[in-house]
Amino acid sequence: MDQVLTGLLKPKSVAIIGASATPGKIGHTVVKNLVDSGYKGNIYPVNPHTDEILGFKSYHSVLDIPEAVDAAAITVPAKFVLDVTEQCGKKGVKGLLIISSGFGEVGNMQLEKDIVKTAHKYGMRVLGPNIVGTLSNTDCLNASFAPFLPLPGKASLVSQSGALLIAMDAATYTRRVGFDKMISIGNMSDVNFADLISYLNEDDETTCISLYIEGLHEGRCFINEARKAKKPIVVLKAGVSEHGAAAAASHTGSLAGAAKIYGAAFQQAGASQANDLNDLFDRTLALSLQPPMQGENLLILTNGGGVGVLATDSAERAGVPLHFAPEDVQAELKKHMPSFGSAINPVDMTGMAGNEWYHDTVKFSFSHPWVDGLVVLYCETAMTNPKEIAKGIFDAINESGIKNKPVTVSFVGGEKSDKAMEWLVENGIPAYGAPDLAVNAMGALREYARMHQINGSQPYQPKNHNPQEAKNIINKARADGRLALTEIEAKGIFQAYGLPVTRTELARNEEEAIKLASEIGFPIVMKIVSPEILHKSDAGGVKVNIKDEAGVREAFQTILRNAKAYKPDANIHGIVIQEMAPWATEVIVGSVNDATFGPTVMFGLGGIFVEVLKDVTFRVAPISLTEAKHMLEDIQSAPILSGVRGEAPRDKDALAEVLAGYAYMVNDLKDEVSESDANPVIVYEEGKGVQVVDARIILKDK
Ligand code: ADP
Ligand code: MG
Repeated sequence: MDQVLTGLLKPKSVAIIGASATPGKIGHTVVKNLVDSGYKGNIYPVNPHTDEILGFKSYHSVLDIPEAVDAAAITVPAKFVLDVTEQCGKKGVKGLLIISSGFGEVGNMQLEKDIVKTAHKYGMRVLGPNIVGTLSNTDCLNASFAPFLPLPGKASLVSQSGALLIAMDAATYTRRVGFDKMISIGNMSDVNFADLISYLNEDDETTCISLYIEGLHEGRCFINEARKAKKPIVVLKAGVSEHGAAAAASHTGSLAGAAKIYGAAFQQAGASQANDLNDLFDRTLALSLQPPMQGENLLILTNGGGVGVLATDSAERAGVPLHFAPEDVQAELKKHMPSFGSAINPVDMTGMAGNEWYHDTVKFSFSHPWVDGLVVLYCETAMTNPKEIAKGIFDAINESGIKNKPVTVSFVGGEKSDKAMEWLVENGIPAYGAPDLAVNAMGALREYARMHQINGSQPYQPKNHNPQEAKNIINKARADGRLALTEIEAKGIFQAYGLPVTRTELARNEEEAIKLASEIGFPIVMKIVSPEILHKSDAGGVKVNIKDEAGVREAFQTILRNAKAYKPDANIHGIVIQEMAPWATEVIVGSVNDATFGPTVMFGLGGIFVEVLKDVTFRVAPISLTEAKHMLEDIQSAPILSGVRGEAPRDKDALAEVLAGYAYMVNDLKDEVSESDANPVIVYEEGKGVQVVDARIILKDK
């Protein structure tokens, strides 16, 4: 456990620098909140003009405090914070909670940097600036200007928005989803999300880490820490603007929005992504109380056909579609329902179900090895008491002795049902006011298990590759003063990383073209080679299916003429002669070097799928072979690769290997390559492989 962060977030003593005797001032509120929260440590107000605040002796400087100070909550105006930091350093304070604002958020970056530099000089860490503070139920600590501690819970929240933290703090009481800790992260000048994930992962009172994120500075650190965490992480990401999509020379660039890349990164981090604030609470509740769902089989138990059907619909959407319960399970369940009930799944015990039926069916199903997860639904009836049903469910789960399977519950009804659900939550069973929410929660528990299975696999490494050869090509282009590589250069780099490219040779005149064509063998493809012409077909610079010498001569002339007409000043290196790949399914593989996450890899089907439907999926590179295979299934047009309308299935294994190899390449060349793509890659029938027929690489401007 990090001692400095512990001092900051679990302090034995707190100095409030800028403490005030005037109610309403933040410097007053923080002292009062510490007192009201029942904080057991020492409280030291610091204010040069006052001798007493709320009954505590007030010190004129932090240096005057006779005892040790773990954390200093700073509320003085921005311009004084650097001096205060220096004093805290001298005093031996462990960490600073800089509540004051007026820093990076208003463009005052330098001051923020100077403060962190000074803090680090003394081994201090800085939370903020521009934070609400930090709250902890177990430590009876409200070192913030949020009015009270949240409803106690097992999850802890880190929020990049202070206002939202205060609102969520209050909302914990109405939503009955509590937190142990709530930490405001502010401008993240020093302590960032990765630090807090690592800290909370070691925190005994936290079972689930919930994050509200507006933007990350170092995406890779975040992914690494999140992957290491043994606790579930739920994230809500706000602000899915067009960052990263700017300045797109390649196709991939224009398809890479922040939302897609953040989404991919969260998946790779193994973090459960909430759709909105409600969903953040709902997922947090499930993941903080229940284990992940390790298999595919979800059983739904209900006393009402209607909610059963609603839940079945949701199950499909939530990625946990229902399967028929096996015969033996059905036979046993049949004993606890009238003849008109249904034991298939959803299991409908009908409105006749009382406490005993609920208890017995829950106990039997939860204990049965076929069941991987259980959703129990209940519609309030005149004949039953919600509290007793809840008790029956709780007892049954308890008596089963099973701890590695999840259960979620939904009661639909009035006040009694609400009270019963509150009781269930207090006793560790997530309960929701609507059947779809209970099912979505189960979906999140299943998704969590799935993400961790995928993320457990090692990044792919090509069997043989020659980075030096790639570097030589790059250096030569740089020496020419170029950032755009030609197709032949890009293919040379692809080949150096073991990717299958069509044989491609440069011809500078017709005679060379004819010689190369007969060497490669007809039919051939001819294309313009010019660093100024990136989209060759647009310039009339591509001729396919050339069958003989006369065709070569004609194409050579036509391509040159077209290129000159398209861009008269284009620097033309010549024309490539290349092996013509037989036609099959065209896909696109691409990469952008994202500002937050670095090199990424994109996959989609060619043509309208990418142009119109933008049906593509991203990952942060490198990726494992398993992840590459999942990418192939991630897009909506995925069935096309499996073979539709009598077409043979495509060689997905070979494609996944190319995708993973390509991701390895863009990651290996992350300091050199800004964007790249292979468009198209042609995918053949199973066992027949893939061919990269066009490649593009744009170098980083250094
Ligand atoms: P650009 O994308 O710069 O316009 P491409 O090299 O992708 O040019 O060529 C355009 C199209 O021609 C490709 O989408 C593909 O359908 C076809 N094509 C290009 N090269 C080959 C090849 N070697 N074999 C078969 N078809 C090819
Ligand atoms: Mg192309």
